[in-house]
Amino acid sequence: MRKKIVAGNWKMNNDLAETELFLEELKKQVFPENVVIMIAPAFTNLNHAFNSLRQHPAEVIAQNMHQSNEGAFTGEISAKMLKSVGANTVILGHSERRAYFNEDGAILSEKVNTALENEMTAIFCVGEELKDRKNGTHFQLIKTQLSEGLFHISNDAWENIIIAYEPVWAIGTGETASPEQAQEMHKFIRKTIAENYSNKIAENVSILYGGSVKPDNASEIFGQPDVDGGLIGGASLQVESFMKIANSF
Ligand code: PEP
Repeated sequence: MRKKIVAGNWKMNNDLAETELFLEELKKQVFPENVVIMIAPAFTNLNHAFNSLRQHPAEVIAQNMHQSNEGAFTGEISAKMLKSVGANTVILGHSERRAYFNEDGAILSEKVNTALENEMTAIFCVGEELKDRKNGTHFQLIKTQLSEGLFHISNDAWENIIIAYEPVWAIGTGETASPEQAQEMHKFIRKTIAENYSNKIAENVSILYGGSVKPDNASEIFGQPDVDGGLIGGASLQVESFMKIANSF
């Protein structure tokens, strides 16, 4: 069943004390009942956040993980490690990982496999750059990203997949895709999944929009029929703006 989801991607922000302050404030909030709220703190604060939110509905998730289950990968974090500190969901293929850490389709498909093998949910990110949209190749590019990273998984595995459409030109820029542009791409993603799997699978997958979502534009974007919520960067760092977005359905 398709869920409404608002997930905060904190990126490399908030040390332990800042995380603690955020969580204390978050715990005072009334959570909307029909929306799954997720926060993705830095690796170093996952365990603290998980323990702090034990009695609260927000889920603590990870921003990334390595594709191998263990081994000589200095500085990396495995699925097992994430699960051991309470993170059962992981963001994979964020455009910053693709751009700055050379994560391509082959690596991402391995990461997806590792997440699924470890019974984790993956939030799989796709998104085009401005040049792709300008030269009209954005639909093809998204199709390629989906096909390289995801379209090898089994029908059943889709239960553990969430997609985030994040146009790179809208991330952290203050530039948002219009609600119509978001809807057009989300509908295309759903159609592409239906063509490769089935209508049922396509209808059941949650597709989040990400890219400068703020309290004042969230409801228009979330009001689109194929938009099931948002992956939120900057505006997830303050409880007030994050909760306003979570209450924008
Ligand atoms: C993101 O990093 O996933 C994101 C959407 O960032 P922002 O909301 O700041 O554009």
